[in-house]
Amino acid sequence: MANNLGTVLRVDLTRGKITRESIPEEIKKEFVGGRGVGVKYFYDEVDPGTDPLGPENKLFVLNGPLAGTNAMSVARWMVITKSPLTDGFTRAVGGADFAAYLKFAGLDMVILEGKAKKPVYLLLADDGTAELKDASGLWGKDTGETQVLLKKWHEDGNKKVNSAVIGPAGEKLVRFAVIESERRTASRGGVGTVMGSKNVKAIAVKASRNIQLADPDTFKSVVKKQIDTMQADPMFPHFQKYGTAMAEGMSATGLMPCKNFQEGPPDNFMDISGDAYDRYTLRHVGCYSCSIRCGKVRRTQDPRYQGAETEGPEYESIWVFTTDIGSTAVEPSLVADKICDDLGIDTISAGATVAFAFELYNRGIITKQDTDGLELTYGNADAMLTLLQKIGNREGFGDLLAEGSYRAARKIGRGAEHYVMTSKKQELAAYDPRGAKSQGLSMATSTTGANHNYGYAFQEIFNVPIPYPVDRFAEAGKGNLTCFNQNLTAVLELGIGCTFPGVFGWLSMEILGQLLAAATGYQEFLSPQYLLEAGERTINLERLFNLRAGLSRKDDSLPERVQKEILTSGASQGHKVEDMEGMLDEYYASRGWDKNGIPTPETLTRLKLAWAIKDLKQIPGLAA
Ligand code: SF4
Repeated sequence: MANNLGTVLRVDLTRGKITRESIPEEIKKEFVGGRGVGVKYFYDEVDPGTDPLGPENKLFVLNGPLAGTNAMSVARWMVITKSPLTDGFTRAVGGADFAAYLKFAGLDMVILEGKAKKPVYLLLADDGTAELKDASGLWGKDTGETQVLLKKWHEDGNKKVNSAVIGPAGEKLVRFAVIESERRTASRGGVGTVMGSKNVKAIAVKASRNIQLADPDTFKSVVKKQIDTMQADPMFPHFQKYGTAMAEGMSATGLMPCKNFQEGPPDNFMDISGDAYDRYTLRHVGCYSCSIRCGKVRRTQDPRYQGAETEGPEYESIWVFTTDIGSTAVEPSLVADKICDDLGIDTISAGATVAFAFELYNRGIITKQDTDGLELTYGNADAMLTLLQKIGNREGFGDLLAEGSYRAARKIGRGAEHYVMTSKKQELAAYDPRGAKSQGLSMATSTTGANHNYGYAFQEIFNVPIPYPVDRFAEAGKGNLTCFNQNLTAVLELGIGCTFPGVFGWLSMEILGQLLAAATGYQEFLSPQYLLEAGERTINLERLFNLRAGLSRKDDSLPERVQKEILTSGASQGHKVEDMEGMLDEYYASRGWDKNGIPTPETLTRLKLAWAIKDLKQIPGLAA
């Protein structure tokens, strides 16, 4: 029997009904797995006009064909839904062991639809049982305590329990709430908010290891090749030691923004270097069967923070909790990371929204009257910590910021909109588009709103000449490069593979294809061209959904600041995004989309999506 079981569990929360179904063979072949299969179901089942927080929206929680195997860096899980932050498609990717546990329970996808009358959690087991249980004893608990209780209640013998849960922020519908497993989160776009809107606190899986592969011998030899490739790379021990704590590298190239993208990195950026964070590291943790173990469990030392422990922060979280609010203090950033994890909020959107509030305060647009008395002067990390608590609990000024910076600015008025650093209403990540044009274009055109992990421009960020060397400041040619990078991410996420091992070639398309073919028995997956087409097919369906939901070319944009204001400090000094529209024209042409960013019938036909041509009529303004 193949590992790619193709089983979906459909949970009708309104009626309390749970059913199983098989993923049709043609979908498994054409969309391969992971994001591809999830997007196909999402596209078919969710009306683009749906209220993201209404019962008609659905939440697709899925793993990939390689989850639970001993291959490296492929144990990721994904959540797909309509986002309450961007009002379009979103996908968020989580780690740790949850994807493997879903697989051990014989499942590739759980679809949550409707809305439960009272808080519930879904308990799954590898004996095939699935039940909705009363979550009144969990509601209000933080993400850590919730997971501990689920283990305590349901673990027995060799049957371990692993769960994906929301925190108080998801319950209170903070627009950028996450779903968390262990301390690894599916974090962007408000996937935890949608789960909260359905009154679902957790999905818990009780299982022991159980994996079947179509060709175990071949699989084993490909895994060996993968491990050998990984261990021969000098980046491997570096990534193992520091994870993504690499603020000094990003600062040296002038990519790490400061004070809500007003400035380049601070002169004392070594205060937040990998070594500075390493001093607090207690142990290394990671996702199932990944020996990189890029997660770092760190503990504060300052008695004021009472030994607070967190897993992280990652580079992007380091940025929002330090330079983005004008600070280079490490310890408060550890505490901030813990607050966000406990409450279940996305560190990037929460931290960037706080940085936006800091700028408004320092410009006099808001005062202590607006901030519940908090002094948001640059560098005031304690105020940041209080504000994060308030956001996660929707208290006072935090209730406004819990809407995200885009919506908060519209309520504040007084010119606050000018300082919002979002694309498609989602906060930008820690890469200044003025110093990395493809990374900027990718954030602008991502179907999920600004997202650094949607087409990571490693050529610009790490100066890697694959498939060719690039000038990171140049704009010509970046449309093509962005398509290449986004397609690469989409292919990795069919697996579901992890970005960094993919970028470094430890999970190359060749290795991924061999793993997929040996796991599933589908020899088509050995062809990189086949996988690339499946990735592109997936992106085009995401795009069609967004267009039908009312998003258009004007939403494929970057904040005014990076297009009008030249960076005045750091190694990207003197640059801005010069010709956003020109980059977009090239990107659309490379994708086979028209000048409005709409896939042409020819492109849809080439990608075996001719059946979706009829849907073009549903794009506002195009009804014939
Ligand atoms: S590199 Fe890190 S995030 Fe990626 S799979 Fe390995 S442990 Fe997980």
